Amino acid sequence: MKNVLITGGSRGIGKECVYLFAEKGYRVFLNYNKSVKEAEKISEKTGAIPVKCDVSDEEEVRKMYTFIHDNYGNIDVLVNNAGIAQIKLFTDISEKDWDNVFNVNVKGMFLVTKAFVRDMISRKKGKIINISSVWGITGGSCEVHYSASKAAVIGFTKALAKELGLSGITVNCVAPGVIDTDMNKNFTAEDIDALKNEIPLGRIGTPKDVAKVILFLASEKTDYITGQVIGIDGGMIM
Ligand code: NAP
Repeated sequence: MKNVLITGGSRGIGKECVYLFAEKGYRVFLNYNKSVKEAEKISEKTGAIPVKCDVSDEEEVRKMYTFIHDNYGNIDVLVNNAGIAQIKLFTDISEKDWDNVFNVNVKGMFLVTKAFVRDMISRKKGKIINISSVWGITGGSCEVHYSASKAAVIGFTKALAKELGLSGITVNCVAPGVIDTDMNKNFTAEDIDALKNEIPLGRIGTPKDVAKVILFLASEKTDYITGQVIGIDGGMIM
Protein backbone atom coordinates (compact mmCIF):
# COMPACT_ATOMS: atom_id res chain seq x y z
CA MET A 1 0.00 0.00 0.00
CA LYS A 2 1.35 3.43 -0.93
CA ASN A 3 1.40 6.22 1.62
CA VAL A 4 0.36 9.75 0.64
CA LEU A 5 0.48 12.86 2.80
CA ILE A 6 -1.92 15.62 1.79
CA THR A 7 -1.42 18.90 3.61
CA GLY A 8 -4.56 20.99 4.10
CA GLY A 9 -6.72 17.91 3.54
CA SER A 10 -9.61 19.16 5.66
CA ARG A 11 -11.28 21.39 3.07
CA GLY A 12 -11.50 22.27 -0.62
CA ILE A 13 -8.98 20.79 -3.05
CA GLY A 14 -7.09 18.89 -0.34
CA LYS A 15 -10.29 17.26 0.94
CA GLU A 16 -11.14 16.07 -2.58
CA CYS A 17 -7.61 14.66 -2.89
CA VAL A 18 -8.15 12.71 0.34
CA TYR A 19 -11.30 11.14 -1.12
CA LEU A 20 -9.73 10.29 -4.49
CA PHE A 21 -6.48 8.85 -3.12
CA ALA A 22 -8.39 6.80 -0.51
CA GLU A 23 -10.68 5.46 -3.24
CA LYS A 24 -7.60 4.39 -5.22
CA GLY A 25 -6.30 2.36 -2.26
CA TYR A 26 -3.65 4.71 -0.88
CA ARG A 27 -3.09 5.00 2.86
CA VAL A 28 -3.88 8.69 3.25
CA PHE A 29 -2.52 11.02 5.91
CA LEU A 30 -4.87 13.97 6.15
CA ASN A 31 -3.04 16.95 7.55
CA TYR A 32 -5.17 19.78 8.90
CA ASN A 33 -4.69 22.79 11.13
CA LYS A 34 -7.91 24.37 12.39
CA SER A 35 -10.74 22.28 10.92
CA VAL A 36 -10.79 19.47 13.49
CA LYS A 37 -14.45 18.48 12.97
CA GLU A 38 -14.13 18.42 9.18
CA ALA A 39 -10.96 16.32 9.41
CA GLU A 40 -12.65 13.81 11.73
CA LYS A 41 -15.68 13.55 9.45
CA ILE A 42 -13.55 12.95 6.35
CA SER A 43 -11.46 10.44 8.25
CA GLU A 44 -14.58 8.48 9.29
CA LYS A 45 -15.79 8.36 5.69
CA THR A 46 -12.49 7.53 4.00
CA GLY A 47 -10.30 5.81 6.59
CA ALA A 48 -7.70 8.59 6.16
CA ILE A 49 -5.47 9.15 9.17
CA PRO A 50 -5.86 12.71 10.46
CA VAL A 51 -2.70 14.53 11.57
CA LYS A 52 -3.02 17.96 13.12
CA CYS A 53 -0.10 20.24 12.29
CA ASP A 54 0.43 23.88 11.38
CA VAL A 55 2.73 23.44 8.38
CA SER A 56 4.39 26.78 9.04
CA ASP A 57 5.68 25.60 12.44
CA GLU A 58 8.91 23.59 12.25
CA GLU A 59 8.36 21.84 15.58
CA GLU A 60 4.84 20.75 14.62
CA VAL A 61 6.09 19.51 11.25
CA ARG A 62 8.81 17.52 13.03
CA LYS A 63 6.15 15.90 15.25
CA MET A 64 3.97 15.11 12.22
CA TYR A 65 6.96 13.45 10.54
CA THR A 66 7.82 11.41 13.64
CA PHE A 67 4.21 10.26 14.10
CA ILE A 68 3.88 9.12 10.49
CA HIS A 69 7.37 7.66 10.14
CA ASP A 70 7.44 5.77 13.44
CA ASN A 71 3.97 4.28 13.03
CA TYR A 72 3.58 3.78 9.29
CA GLY A 73 6.96 4.12 7.56
CA ASN A 74 7.80 6.22 4.52
CA ILE A 75 5.72 8.59 2.47
CA ASP A 76 5.57 7.73 -1.25
CA VAL A 77 3.66 10.81 -2.38
CA LEU A 78 3.67 14.26 -0.82
CA VAL A 79 1.00 16.77 -1.83
CA ASN A 80 1.87 20.26 -0.57
CA ASN A 81 -1.62 21.72 -0.80
CA ALA A 82 -2.11 23.75 2.41
CA GLY A 83 -2.45 27.40 1.51
CA ILE A 84 -4.08 30.68 2.40
CA ALA A 85 -5.08 33.67 0.29
CA GLN A 86 -5.97 37.26 1.00
CA ILE A 87 -7.44 39.99 -1.17
CA LYS A 88 -5.95 43.40 -0.39
CA LEU A 89 -4.69 46.46 -2.17
CA PHE A 90 -0.90 46.31 -2.31
CA THR A 91 -0.63 49.48 -0.21
CA ASP A 92 -2.77 47.90 2.53
CA ILE A 93 -0.73 44.71 2.86
CA SER A 94 0.99 44.76 6.25
CA GLU A 95 4.21 43.00 7.14
CA LYS A 96 2.08 40.55 9.15
CA ASP A 97 -0.17 39.84 6.14
CA TRP A 98 2.90 39.23 4.00
CA ASP A 99 4.46 36.91 6.59
CA ASN A 100 1.22 34.97 7.13
CA VAL A 101 0.85 34.22 3.44
CA PHE A 102 4.51 33.33 2.91
CA ASN A 103 4.71 31.31 6.15
CA VAL A 104 1.98 28.92 5.05
CA ASN A 105 2.32 28.91 1.26
CA VAL A 106 6.11 28.91 0.98
CA LYS A 107 7.73 28.10 4.32
CA GLY A 108 5.12 25.40 4.99
CA MET A 109 5.95 23.70 1.68
CA PHE A 110 9.68 23.99 2.49
CA LEU A 111 9.37 22.56 6.01
CA VAL A 112 7.11 19.64 5.07
CA THR A 113 9.18 18.75 2.02
CA LYS A 114 12.41 18.94 4.00
CA ALA A 115 11.01 16.64 6.69
CA PHE A 116 9.86 13.91 4.30
CA VAL A 117 12.30 14.15 1.41
CA ARG A 118 15.28 12.62 3.24
CA ASP A 119 13.56 9.22 3.31
CA MET A 120 12.63 9.59 -0.35
CA ILE A 121 16.28 10.29 -1.16
CA SER A 122 17.50 7.22 0.76
CA ARG A 123 14.89 5.04 -1.00
CA LYS A 124 15.57 6.72 -4.37
CA LYS A 125 11.89 7.16 -5.05
CA GLY A 126 9.09 9.55 -4.37
CA LYS A 127 6.69 12.04 -5.90
CA ILE A 128 6.17 15.59 -4.71
CA ILE A 129 3.26 17.63 -6.01
CA ASN A 130 2.96 21.30 -5.09
CA ILE A 131 -0.01 23.62 -5.62
CA SER A 132 0.74 26.91 -7.32
CA SER A 133 -1.93 29.05 -9.02
CA VAL A 134 -2.55 30.89 -12.28
CA TRP A 135 -1.80 34.02 -10.25
CA GLY A 136 1.71 32.69 -9.66
CA ILE A 137 2.18 32.80 -13.44
CA THR A 138 0.28 35.91 -14.51
CA GLY A 139 0.06 37.87 -11.23
CA GLY A 140 -3.30 38.74 -9.71
CA SER A 141 -4.33 42.31 -8.93
CA CYS A 142 -4.99 42.87 -5.20
CA GLU A 143 -3.19 39.63 -4.42
CA VAL A 144 0.45 40.62 -4.71
CA HIS A 145 1.63 38.64 -1.67
CA TYR A 146 -0.43 35.59 -2.71
CA SER A 147 0.78 35.82 -6.33
CA ALA A 148 4.41 36.20 -5.22
CA SER A 149 4.05 33.16 -2.92
CA LYS A 150 2.60 31.06 -5.74
CA ALA A 151 5.40 32.17 -8.09
CA ALA A 152 7.78 30.96 -5.37
CA VAL A 153 6.07 27.56 -5.47
CA ILE A 154 6.99 27.33 -9.17
CA GLY A 155 10.64 28.29 -8.57
CA PHE A 156 10.85 25.83 -5.68
CA THR A 157 9.34 23.05 -7.83
CA LYS A 158 11.74 23.54 -10.73
CA ALA A 159 14.88 23.89 -8.60
CA LEU A 160 14.06 20.88 -6.47
CA ALA A 161 13.17 18.81 -9.55
CA LYS A 162 16.69 19.49 -10.88
CA GLU A 163 18.34 18.64 -7.58
CA LEU A 164 16.38 15.44 -6.95
CA GLY A 165 16.17 13.99 -10.46
CA LEU A 166 19.09 11.62 -9.97
CA SER A 167 17.58 10.55 -6.65
CA GLY A 168 14.60 9.14 -8.53
CA ILE A 169 12.21 11.75 -7.20
CA THR A 170 9.85 13.78 -9.36
CA VAL A 171 8.68 17.24 -8.34
CA ASN A 172 5.83 18.89 -10.20
CA CYS A 173 3.22 21.50 -9.52
CA VAL A 174 -0.28 22.33 -10.65
CA ALA A 175 -1.55 25.83 -11.32
CA PRO A 176 -5.32 25.87 -10.78
CA GLY A 177 -7.45 28.74 -12.05
CA VAL A 178 -10.62 29.70 -10.19
CA ILE A 179 -11.83 26.70 -8.20
CA ASP A 180 -15.06 26.48 -6.22
CA THR A 181 -13.78 26.29 -2.61
CA ASP A 182 -13.97 28.37 0.58
CA MET A 183 -10.98 30.33 -0.72
CA ASN A 184 -13.30 32.01 -3.23
CA LYS A 185 -16.38 32.27 -1.04
CA ASN A 186 -16.27 36.07 -1.03
CA PHE A 187 -16.89 36.29 -4.78
CA THR A 188 -20.40 37.52 -5.65
CA ALA A 189 -22.50 35.86 -8.35
CA GLU A 190 -21.55 38.78 -10.64
CA ASP A 191 -17.86 38.24 -9.95
CA ILE A 192 -18.23 34.56 -10.86
CA ASP A 193 -20.09 35.43 -14.08
CA ALA A 194 -17.36 37.89 -15.03
CA LEU A 195 -14.73 35.22 -14.37
CA LYS A 196 -16.61 32.63 -16.42
CA ASN A 197 -16.42 35.02 -19.39
CA GLU A 198 -12.63 34.84 -19.17
CA ILE A 199 -12.61 31.03 -19.21
CA PRO A 200 -12.81 29.23 -22.57
CA LEU A 201 -14.49 26.19 -20.99
CA GLY A 202 -17.16 28.53 -19.63
CA ARG A 203 -17.20 27.46 -16.00
CA ILE A 204 -15.15 27.72 -12.86
CA GLY A 205 -13.35 24.57 -11.74
CA THR A 206 -14.33 22.02 -9.12
CA PRO A 207 -11.98 20.60 -6.48
CA LYS A 208 -12.32 17.30 -8.35
CA ASP A 209 -10.99 18.87 -11.56
CA VAL A 210 -7.77 19.57 -9.64
CA ALA A 211 -7.63 16.43 -7.49
CA LYS A 212 -7.86 14.18 -10.59
CA VAL A 213 -4.71 15.75 -12.04
CA ILE A 214 -2.87 15.49 -8.71
CA LEU A 215 -3.78 11.79 -8.58
CA PHE A 216 -2.45 11.41 -12.13
CA LEU A 217 0.83 13.16 -11.20
CA ALA A 218 1.16 10.72 -8.28
CA SER A 219 0.83 7.70 -10.57
CA GLU A 220 3.51 5.76 -12.44
CA LYS A 221 2.06 7.19 -15.68
CA THR A 222 4.08 10.33 -14.94
CA ASP A 223 7.42 8.74 -14.08
CA TYR A 224 9.16 10.74 -16.84
CA ILE A 225 7.58 14.09 -15.95
CA THR A 226 9.39 16.42 -13.57
CA GLY A 227 9.76 20.15 -12.96
CA GLN A 228 6.50 20.92 -14.75
CA VAL A 229 3.69 23.35 -14.08
CA ILE A 230 0.37 21.84 -15.16
CA GLY A 231 -2.41 24.37 -15.68
CA ILE A 232 -5.91 23.35 -14.52
CA ASP A 233 -7.88 26.43 -15.40
CA GLY A 234 -10.36 25.71 -18.18
CA GLY A 235 -8.03 27.49 -20.59
CA MET A 236 -8.06 30.75 -18.60
CA ILE A 237 -4.42 31.36 -19.41
CA MET A 238 -2.57 29.90 -22.40
P1 NAP B 1 -9.40 26.19 1.22
O1 NAP B 1 -10.69 25.57 0.81
O2 NAP B 1 -9.40 27.52 1.87
O3 NAP B 1 -8.62 25.13 2.14
C1 NAP B 1 -7.34 25.44 2.62
C2 NAP B 1 -6.77 24.23 3.31
O4 NAP B 1 -5.45 24.58 3.76
C3 NAP B 1 -7.58 23.83 4.55
O5 NAP B 1 -7.68 22.43 4.61
C4 NAP B 1 -6.74 24.38 5.70
O6 NAP B 1 -6.81 23.58 6.87
C5 NAP B 1 -5.33 24.24 5.13
N1 NAP B 1 -4.39 25.11 5.82
C6 NAP B 1 -4.36 26.48 5.86
N2 NAP B 1 -3.36 26.90 6.65
C7 NAP B 1 -2.74 25.78 7.12
C8 NAP B 1 -1.64 25.56 7.98
N3 NAP B 1 -0.95 26.58 8.54
N4 NAP B 1 -1.27 24.28 8.25
C9 NAP B 1 -1.94 23.23 7.71
N5 NAP B 1 -3.02 23.38 6.89
C10 NAP B 1 -3.40 24.65 6.62
O7 NAP B 1 -8.43 26.34 -0.02
P2 NAP B 1 -8.38 25.60 -1.44
O8 NAP B 1 -9.06 26.46 -2.40
O9 NAP B 1 -8.75 24.17 -1.30
O10 NAP B 1 -6.82 25.72 -1.73
C11 NAP B 1 -5.91 24.64 -1.66
C12 NAP B 1 -4.63 25.04 -2.37
O11 NAP B 1 -4.92 25.34 -3.72
C13 NAP B 1 -3.98 26.30 -1.79
O12 NAP B 1 -2.58 26.14 -1.82
C14 NAP B 1 -4.41 27.39 -2.74
O13 NAP B 1 -3.53 28.47 -2.74
C15 NAP B 1 -4.42 26.63 -4.05
N6 NAP B 1 -5.26 27.23 -5.09
C16 NAP B 1 -6.59 27.41 -4.91
C17 NAP B 1 -7.34 27.99 -5.93
C18 NAP B 1 -8.82 28.25 -5.81
O14 NAP B 1 -9.38 28.92 -6.69
N7 NAP B 1 -9.51 27.74 -4.81
C19 NAP B 1 -6.72 28.37 -7.12
C20 NAP B 1 -5.35 28.16 -7.26
C21 NAP B 1 -4.63 27.58 -6.25
P3 NAP B 1 -7.65 24.00 8.20
O15 NAP B 1 -8.98 24.48 7.73
O16 NAP B 1 -7.69 22.71 8.96
O17 NAP B 1 -6.85 25.06 8.91
